[in-house]
Amino acid sequence: MYGLAPEKLLLLVYRNFYLAIPILFMSASMVEPWKSLLLEIIYEKYQAWLSGLSFTCTKGCSACCTQSVTLTSLEAEAILTHIRQEDRIDLLALIEQTPASQNVPSITTNRLARYCLDQHEPPDENHGWNFAPCIFLAKGCCRIYEFRPFSCRSFVSVAPCSQDEGARVPSWIITLNTAIMQVIEHIDENGEWGNMTDVLKLLISADDNVRSVLSDTERLPGFLIPPDEKRRIFPLIEDLLETRAGDATFAALARIEFNHPMTYETI
Ligand code: SF4
Repeated sequence: MYGLAPEKLLLLVYRNFYLAIPILFMSASMVEPWKSLLLEIIYEKYQAWLSGLSFTCTKGCSACCTQSVTLTSLEAEAILTHIRQEDRIDLLALIEQTPASQNVPSITTNRLARYCLDQHEPPDENHGWNFAPCIFLAKGCCRIYEFRPFSCRSFVSVAPCSQDEGARVPSWIITLNTAIMQVIEHIDENGEWGNMTDVLKLLISADDNVRSVLSDTERLPGFLIPPDEKRRIFPLIEDLLETRAGDATFAALARIEFNHPMTYETI
């Protein structure tokens, strides 16, 4: 097990009330339905895989809920869809009012995987962590809990977090989380990736200043799975890829081809 802060485990990561009103009714989700379907399947599968495990995380514990949570534009669109459906004008205004990040992560999960698989040293990332509370946190609880991104769903710990020691996460879950983040980024190819509020702000306002702090998503170059964890992780990935998604399989829609019990490739 690793004893790292959750943000590191993930890497790797009201302008005014009235101005928000036209945004609420003008902005419809641009996400292709099959992408939303695959994201829902991922969330359901992940919850099922971890359902029999014991974690110390409890409602009201928000140690992981900082402004260094990263996500794809696909996950951000899912959040915005539900915020709009629930007429949460206050949350739209809050996103708009939050300043863009200063020190931002620049290497997406798939880009990092590509460096590693090509046996190249990834460039140094000099971004700092922003441990300010997440903008969706209120009284210790998440205001978008049902629609939170995958990073938030993957925040788990088998021991209580403390000031001295962050979350304790079994290594195979860290590997699984990385693989799932890679799949989500692959599905959202040609999308955007970065800190949660920045991606949300871009989708709301198409602000080029925000775009400059985001990174382009990349397709899956291969998974980062240590040899001793393949037997545990591959059956889960296989389970995901073989799941029915409408008239097709997850693998067919995501264009991830299963060639051999231990080999996956994108097509
Ligand atoms: S979106 Fe919700 S679960 Fe995720 S960091 Fe923010 S408050 Fe926490």
